[in-house]
Amino acid sequence: MIKISNLSKAFDGTKVLDNIDIEIKKGEIVAIIGPSGTGKSTLLRCLNFLETPDTGDFTVGELKINVQTIKAAQITQLRKQFAFVFQNYALFANLNARDNIAEALQTVYKQDKQGAHSKAMQILKDIGLENKALSFPSQLSGGQQQRIGIGRAMAYPSQAILFDEPTSALDPQWVDEVLGLIKKLANQQQTMLIVTHEMEFARDVADRIIFMSEGRIVEQGSPEQLFTNPKDPRTQQFLARAT
Ligand code: ADP
Ligand code: MG
Repeated sequence: MIKISNLSKAFDGTKVLDNIDIEIKKGEIVAIIGPSGTGKSTLLRCLNFLETPDTGDFTVGELKINVQTIKAAQITQLRKQFAFVFQNYALFANLNARDNIAEALQTVYKQDKQGAHSKAMQILKDIGLENKALSFPSQLSGGQQQRIGIGRAMAYPSQAILFDEPTSALDPQWVDEVLGLIKKLANQQQTMLIVTHEMEFARDVADRIIFMSEGRIVEQGSPEQLFTNPKDPRTQQFLARAT
């Protein structure tokens, strides 16, 4: 359903992503792990054109694009295919929880206000924050804010949700409730690409683990394979430190 071929990106002449190929099936949960500064965030950002890739061919559902010949209208279409959950939640400070979820449903996905509000309320119920519908981000804990960030992504009719280290900015006491919500989505076969430093969690929820180092995919496989029998010395070394 999602096929990324030959994705490369350089910043100021330095290659940060070097010929990345990734395929994700519908319903598949893929976790990306690897040292910091390795290009994991850049990879996710390139999928959404938050960064412009230098090379690459993307097939996402019906949409086929080449990043060098892509037109503005296709960038808009591509962005609708991926919902993003950011490290720092990236909620709108001036909107309450309900409207944080409803906003893009109206502006990007062109739903009417009533439909967007009722979808947002349904999501708030799903994520256990129905009673916070009218609260602003500053009135919510970090864990609650990130659950709203995830709820917002759940609300969109996209092909996949991309998570960029969704718990790394959280105080430790909020980590479990956020991981728990992502796990619930995983159980519902929501297609997801999750960059995470939570190794236990990756092992638990992912169908496949990708290990990246210095802008390349070094190794990938089932959690069992990758965690118990990593083949590449770089993977072995990373896991020895991280787990
Ligand atoms: P990771 O998420 O794996 O920690 P990043 O994708 O954030 O890695 O960064 C990969 C490399 O690209 C790093 O060396 C980082 O400094 C560099 N980088 C990321 N974004 C930019 C940018 N907008 N401009 C210049 N360099 C960047
Ligand atoms: Mg990162």
